[in-house]
Amino acid sequence: MELTNGYLKDLLERVKARNQGEPEFIEAVTEVLTTLQPVAEKRQDLIDAGVFERIVEPERQIIFRVPWVDDSGKVQVNRGFRIQFNSAIGPYKGGLRLHPSVYLGIIKFLGFEQIFKNSLTTLPMGGGKGGSDFDPKGKSDGEVMRFCQSFMTELSKHIGADCDVPAGDIGTGAREIGYMFGQYKRLRNEFTGVLTGKGLTYGGSLARTQATGYGLCYFTDEMLKANGKSFKDQAVVISGSGNVAIYATEKATQYGAKVVTVSDSNGYIYDPDGIDLDLVKQIKEVERGRIKEYIGRTAHKNAEYHDGSVWTLKCNAGSIKLDIALPCATQNEINGEAAKAIAANGGYAVAEGANMPSTPEAIEVYFANNILYGPAKAANAGGVATSGLEMSQNSERLSWSFEEVDEKLHNIMINIFKSCDEASKEYGMPGNYMAGANIAGFLKVAEAMKAQGCV
Ligand code: NDP
Repeated sequence: MELTNGYLKDLLERVKARNQGEPEFIEAVTEVLTTLQPVAEKRQDLIDAGVFERIVEPERQIIFRVPWVDDSGKVQVNRGFRIQFNSAIGPYKGGLRLHPSVYLGIIKFLGFEQIFKNSLTTLPMGGGKGGSDFDPKGKSDGEVMRFCQSFMTELSKHIGADCDVPAGDIGTGAREIGYMFGQYKRLRNEFTGVLTGKGLTYGGSLARTQATGYGLCYFTDEMLKANGKSFKDQAVVISGSGNVAIYATEKATQYGAKVVTVSDSNGYIYDPDGIDLDLVKQIKEVERGRIKEYIGRTAHKNAEYHDGSVWTLKCNAGSIKLDIALPCATQNEINGEAAKAIAANGGYAVAEGANMPSTPEAIEVYFANNILYGPAKAANAGGVATSGLEMSQNSERLSWSFEEVDEKLHNIMINIFKSCDEASKEYGMPGNYMAGANIAGFLKVAEAMKAQGCV
């Protein structure tokens, strides 16, 4: 799909000029504006209200110093970010990423995507994102705690249960959220639902840990069913071995699929007998180890470890049987070549657990090969949706059962698929769930922005 609408083309040029050196943000905006062309053509009122111009500019961008002392007594300095992108439909909401690759452009792309994703959940949540270039890998618990406390000391000035509610993301799991929550409470002397993904003993929601991975499979299941397919007996390739990957593996397996890979940033496991998930959980969730330790500890004799990206996975045509790909690691992990390899190996569906894991070239390959494509904004929205449910429980000072939360999550994912499907049909692009997700997510926020005037 090409951007031909003159008004949006001109806007994209201005976005590029104003956000130089931020290719991930430009990539995300380009995709959204391209798929919004039929909306711009129908809705002059939204153009007149400046909605398109306003939605690509964050409401507020906060960048701050995060000093902390390492175990040897040396001062370390990281950079912290919080992008409060859009609050038209609710308090800013979005995770905190701790990874050395973090810089302004990554946080802005994630915050921008979050606007549409949160809107799709139907819950009242605006879009935001934050994080730091701090790397928790290889750090002691004490170092992670001192970093988190310093990070929250500044962040606490800008967030709140009715204003901005951060959560986890890459590198920010239960441990980090716990330290941040403790510091917020100490500084503000208030116990509120200011963060989600909290531990179950202090306001966390059952099923939040599982939510993104489970939600991805609920969405994928709907997409498959709508196209006459199902997970049953299918070979599934998953990247990553973190929170999203682990629970996507669990749910896909419950649906009767066989997950044959998991990975980390060093390499991947290919296990044709199906990934031994208990072992992955032990290595990753308990020991914080590397995925290569799987070999030698699993009873599966045919399992192999390879250095490099999972998407080079024996990825020459015919070397493995692959039906469904669920990228669950990081942005731009699947490029055009990898997408071709997925198609050549028989892959007919890709649904994104990670945010923006497919490059624009990869997405073109999906469409050219009639691969069913579930975009991140829709497919991985289960995490933030359940964060929204955690906020509701915190406000009520109640907690719901696992089954209750899981059922609500399942219904939300079914409805997200429906919204994407219906919008894709209404705007003349049936089966293009990427366009459907962008349009459906955009319209709700756009109406709210128009109604609230030029703010
Ligand atoms: P985790 O930190 O738990 O796991 C991330 C996984 O991806 C790890 O296996 C990690 O390997 C791997 N990874 C990270 N960066 C790279 C890289 N540059 N190259 C290859 N592998 C990499 O994060 P999550 O599972 O929470 O997040 C994964 C993705 O899902 C992210 O894109 C995130 O934004 C998205 N997401 C997460 C949600 C959530 O609720 N957690 C909600 C919605 C989206 P290693 O250990 O070697 O770094």
